[in-house]
Amino acid sequence: MIAELLEKFGIHQAHSGVFAGDWITKPGGPEFDSLNPSDGKVIASVMCASSKNYEQVMVRAGEGFKRWREVPAPMRGEIIREVGIALRKHKKDLGLLITLETGKILSEGQGEVQEMIDMCDFATGLSRQLHGLTIASERKDHRLFEQWHPLGVVGIISAFNFPAAVWAWNAILAAICGDTSVWKPSNHTPITSIAVINIVASVMKSNGYGDVFSLCISEGHLAAEWIAQDKRIPLVSATGSCEMGRVVGAKVSQRLGRSLLELGGNNAAIISPSANIDLALRGVLFAAVGTAGQRCTTLRRLFVHDSIETMFMEKLCTAYGSITIGNPWEEAVLMGPLISEPAVEKMMLAIEEAKKQGGKVLAGGNRILGSGNFVEPTIILASPEMPIMQQETFAPILYVMPYHHLGDAIRFNNEVPQGLSSAIFTDRVSEAEQFLSTRGSDCGIANVNIGTSGAEIGGAFGGEKDTGGGRESGSDCWKNYMRRQTCTINGSDQLPLAQGIQFDL
Ligand code: NAD
Repeated sequence: MIAELLEKFGIHQAHSGVFAGDWITKPGGPEFDSLNPSDGKVIASVMCASSKNYEQVMVRAGEGFKRWREVPAPMRGEIIREVGIALRKHKKDLGLLITLETGKILSEGQGEVQEMIDMCDFATGLSRQLHGLTIASERKDHRLFEQWHPLGVVGIISAFNFPAAVWAWNAILAAICGDTSVWKPSNHTPITSIAVINIVASVMKSNGYGDVFSLCISEGHLAAEWIAQDKRIPLVSATGSCEMGRVVGAKVSQRLGRSLLELGGNNAAIISPSANIDLALRGVLFAAVGTAGQRCTTLRRLFVHDSIETMFMEKLCTAYGSITIGNPWEEAVLMGPLISEPAVEKMMLAIEEAKKQGGKVLAGGNRILGSGNFVEPTIILASPEMPIMQQETFAPILYVMPYHHLGDAIRFNNEVPQGLSSAIFTDRVSEAEQFLSTRGSDCGIANVNIGTSGAEIGGAFGGEKDTGGGRESGSDCWKNYMRRQTCTINGSDQLPLAQGIQFDL
């Protein structure tokens, strides 16, 4: 089954991890294995880029940019429409591959490809709307306006947990804006990135633009470092941990480049006494346990009103007990494995630390013995002062705390370094409005009667504080991938100066 799937994408053992308009068949870097998190077996091996190969990638991407930027944006959109059609054809298989390599369940694997398709549709429409403002000039017969130009080669560094969708958020928008891109994916998910490039490259090549999307898999983080330091790359979009963002962001800003950082979250939800309890339970369950707690938007902290705490926690613990954990390729499974053995160890260490800090395990708490990186989703009764709650443990651990006044719960929500996603479950308008007001949640995402995870592509996605401040995907995020030019045209035979300044001989 796995061999057949790889065959469908033309992926063989020791497949090249470097695409520069064509696959560089024997790149000069070392080889490494992609492991199936469900059983620890090798899915396939990948050959990494050397620094020389990176140069080849950059040269092709640079040349590609010079041709691609000349294509009218709506025509670029037409080609991206074809990319979307190709992704539709491969949706089932690519989803299966994502499930295989990340351990996320079948419907989430399919959902990730759907997100890529949605991005293509969105970008196709947007390709006719990359417009600037016309501004009233203070000078007679002058026209003041803004226009947007392509930026150049965009660097994309991505995390393991959305191995394809995050590429699409960036690469597809960059492409309709007239940019080319170089992608350094996570080394946990190289096979997915090769499959994605194979799908999109065939469309791009058949249109004569095979070098718009490149791939550069390296040993460790090397390619990310090359990208961060490369003056030829005006924008680096980096998705991953706050630790990674600090390193990459500093390198990019040192050379005065632009970075778009999408970093860790430490997301919270508030359950008010007026909440629809069934809805809140379902929202909490998907946000906390979905993707085995490995979403940047995963629900990590839950504040439950003290008047409903006992009832709500009983129901939540019962629901946790009925989650089917196992091989994510099986239909009924709701939670697959963690990405790696070190991820399991980190989760177990965090649980031990939480206990030392006074936390009490209410559900789960253990790894599941046998092959694969399986763990029990875990609930820990905690208090807001526990230092462990300041950090993101990328695993299904939910810290639960009672609150009495909504103002306190909102303060707890905000008292962490990260600021990605937040939610309140309430049927009272005044509570929802307080949560969304200027004194409410300080996060980039604030939801009412929806969990913290599962954003649609139409909105701008991203977070504040240590989450990095970047915004990707919908709304006006396309502006990140272009350069703004302010133009003034003097249509008169006079030369009036702005602010009424006189400078006559
Ligand atoms: P990670 O930080 O370990 O790796 C992400 C990418 O950065 C990888 O490609 C990796 O090779 C590279 N990288 C890591 N350290 C680096 C360094 N020092 N220098 C250069 N490159 C480096 O993250 P991960 O484990 O793959 O993913 C999980 C993390 O990503 C979580 O913190 C999660 O919250 C975050 N994430 C954020 C978003 C978002 O949109 N905000 C989305 C997905 C994941």
